[in-house]
Amino acid sequence: MARDGMLAFEVVWPTIAAQVTPLPGADLPLDGAAGRWLLRPAVAAWDLPRFDAAAMDGFAVRAADCTGAGPFRLALAPGDAYAAPGEPGALPPGHALPIGTGGVLPDGADAIAIREVTRVEEGAVVVERPVEPGAHVRRRGEELRAGDVVLEAGVRLGPRALAAAAAAGVRKVSAGTWPRVAIVSTGSELVEPEATPGAGQIVDTNRPFLERSVACATGAPPALSLHVGDDREAVETALREALGSAEVLVVTGGVSVGDRDYVRGVLEQALGAEPLFWRVAQKPGKPLYVARAGARWIVGLPGNPAAVIVHFNVVVAPLLRALAGAPEPAPRRLPVRIAAPLHRDRRRTLLRWATLHAEDGALRARPLARSGSHMISDLARADVLVIVPPGDGAFAPGDTLEAISLER
Ligand code: AMP
Ligand code: MG
Repeated sequence: MARDGMLAFEVVWPTIAAQVTPLPGADLPLDGAAGRWLLRPAVAAWDLPRFDAAAMDGFAVRAADCTGAGPFRLALAPGDAYAAPGEPGALPPGHALPIGTGGVLPDGADAIAIREVTRVEEGAVVVERPVEPGAHVRRRGEELRAGDVVLEAGVRLGPRALAAAAAAGVRKVSAGTWPRVAIVSTGSELVEPEATPGAGQIVDTNRPFLERSVACATGAPPALSLHVGDDREAVETALREALGSAEVLVVTGGVSVGDRDYVRGVLEQALGAEPLFWRVAQKPGKPLYVARAGARWIVGLPGNPAAVIVHFNVVVAPLLRALAGAPEPAPRRLPVRIAAPLHRDRRRTLLRWATLHAEDGALRARPLARSGSHMISDLARADVLVIVPPGDGAFAPGDTLEAISLER
């Protein structure tokens, strides 16, 4: 599947995925597991609902007292059963007890006469219509029984999953572990984002982009983030330190074939890196270098900022998710109708940034104009990367292609 020594775009992720072993997981309290993937099913500690309860505001009744031709006149039972700690006493026959949504159903009661069909008259409750047994009652255990699986293995422990687990009394879960990430940007021309670039200098945008992206993806900032000039010794020192402090090293710049591109040479000659592949038939982002050093992963990205953004989405974020135990770490793909013609490249897959709009029941992708690999102003507002497979000619407006959602 290599094209002129380049790996085909569609082979890149499968090639990496085939080599990934997730990091060992850990048993964690729910709070500490937020944002991770569940490795073993989580089991309910108690029934859900925990007790028979009202599903509506009204009166707890015995349905047998409200059967036949209404209205039915019931005695008002003392007390109430609003959602609150404690339990109401038993409901005697011929009585009705005020109850609120979530309130404990008193013993003896088997239905709720909702507020809308009742009125209170001289210490009595008048129920205007018959009430079916079980009406507006949430039954104990109707959702889950103690011991049932509340969350399957593979679920992402986002806010919804954490809420469901907490409701079912789950205290600890077995969750995957996010890798620690080290970032190194290389290039003597780069200055910090706060600085004003002088002649021949530009702002280092890849490093803050990667720092923020790693923090968004994993919930933690990188373990280390360095910038280094194009000096072989300095590159070696930085890469050695980075490899020592993280499971994943992401380097930008200096991976190509220029005289001052030292990254690959240093990694392989001095740091024991073994390449998986080098160069991908895609645009932007051809000079992608992926290697391993023992159990550690190294992703060498080209310096071009658009290529870095594309590769973070297509390779780096999926790698982090895969190491963290995600069952489907690859970026989500969706079919989109393109709103403008898209030229193809004979040999390389093009990744074209586009905004997404719902139109006539389909998703329409409107390609953005500034698409050079050094241009990121339009990428900043794009929603997706449209995948334009290699071939002759062009795709026409209305054609359907696949697109990858960009990380927010
Ligand atoms: P390189 O891959 O080192 O040859 O860099 C390719 C292009 O990307 C050059 O124009 C660099 O100036 C630019 N570049 C490299 N690193 C960065 C960075 N961290 N931030 C912004 N631009 C960069
Ligand atoms: Mg460079």
